[in-house]
Amino acid sequence: MTQHLLLGQTLGFSGNPLTGAWQDAVQFNSAGGVLVADGKIVATGDGATLRQAYPQALATNYGNALITAGFVDAHMHYPQTGIIASWGKQLIDWLNTYTFPEESQFGDKTYADDVADRALDLALAHGTTTLTSFCTIHPQSVDAFFEAAAARNMAVVAGKTCMDRNAPDSLRDTAKTAYDDSKALLEKWHGKGRATYAITPRFSPTSTPDQLTALGALWAEHPHCLMQTHLSEQLPEIAWMRSLFPNARDYLDTYEAFGLLGTNGLYGHAIHLEDREIARLSEMGAAVVHCPTSNTFIGSGLFDLLGLAKASISIGLATDTGGGSSFSMLRTMAAAYEIGQLRGTALHPAQLMWLATEGSADALKMSGKIGHLGAGAAADITVLDLASTSAIAQRSGRAKDVWDALFPTIMMGDDRAIKDVWIAGKRWAA
Ligand SMILES: [Zn+2]
Repeated sequence: MTQHLLLGQTLGFSGNPLTGAWQDAVQFNSAGGVLVADGKIVATGDGATLRQAYPQALATNYGNALITAGFVDAHMHYPQTGIIASWGKQLIDWLNTYTFPEESQFGDKTYADDVADRALDLALAHGTTTLTSFCTIHPQSVDAFFEAAAARNMAVVAGKTCMDRNAPDSLRDTAKTAYDDSKALLEKWHGKGRATYAITPRFSPTSTPDQLTALGALWAEHPHCLMQTHLSEQLPEIAWMRSLFPNARDYLDTYEAFGLLGTNGLYGHAIHLEDREIARLSEMGAAVVHCPTSNTFIGSGLFDLLGLAKASISIGLATDTGGGSSFSMLRTMAAAYEIGQLRGTALHPAQLMWLATEGSADALKMSGKIGHLGAGAAADITVLDLASTSAIAQRSGRAKDVWDALFPTIMMGDDRAIKDVWIAGKRWAA
């Protein structure tokens, strides 16, 4: 078995820098090493010490580049890859104008295969080693995504998007076909290789109570699966939800009442939450997913990151491609910083990096397995060049410490900052 030793600056975490002092949560080594074997990280520590202890390991010296866990995108829509940066609409019009016509094409397996390949290659080019994706209502869109991920040995989460109302005919299933198709796909893919299945109602306005009931029953039969959906993204959406579910106490109740609130639940956006919703999410150990470029691009609102962290709610970070305006988790961290500033809080680079790796892994209930630069985790690793453009280099060149050197890359970096990516212990080459 070949051992690899990656040398450079290393950044990992031993705690949560959102709920405690960030200084207590970080593990930084300016001359660190990461020992990799059999797809996993075996050890991290001082580079020279590891080199001495494992002389047989093949060493790759990244110099001053920063070795971190690969980025984990906790919410995106791979079928929307081709419509990213579509102009001028807010949520409901955006779905009708851009999303639904594009998603209608995914009954064609060849088309789905092509977009899945593109989405995963774009993710890897941006240092993202795990995608959590909505597919379309077509089972073949799910097969296409999991097959493309398996070909790259990537850990991914995905599920068939279910909609049986308020969508075009070509994108509607029924309560029964949503249950049957999701069950068949779940049995086919969940736990196969690095695949995780997520039961996926798009959001309660596009599912009838019958469909939500059927999916709640499926989750009760397979509680180890994840369940992903959208929650409280825009105010007009919330008003629409209220007209469709007049008896619901709040938006979360449109899931809770049908068995779709649980520990393994992932609720995208969660911007305009009421106190009861926050308390219930916390009580259930469910996760919310922050999608900052999407929230500004679609005009949704300002996510209360620190408030929800203080309520002990697990928070992941995500691009929400193509409602989000970037494939890059660096740009996504920058947008999270900007939203924090608009709410009066400057998030520290350690907090942003934690969200993009450990935070998202925690939301996916995969803590310690992915998004973690430490022994036992999958060797899904991203290496960041902290001087990838002349604009960044002239700023990071005068940095006082690693955070000062890293922050310009978070704010101004893109795929040019990705020096290298390792997936399950193998160096990825495009
Ligand atoms: Zn979304």
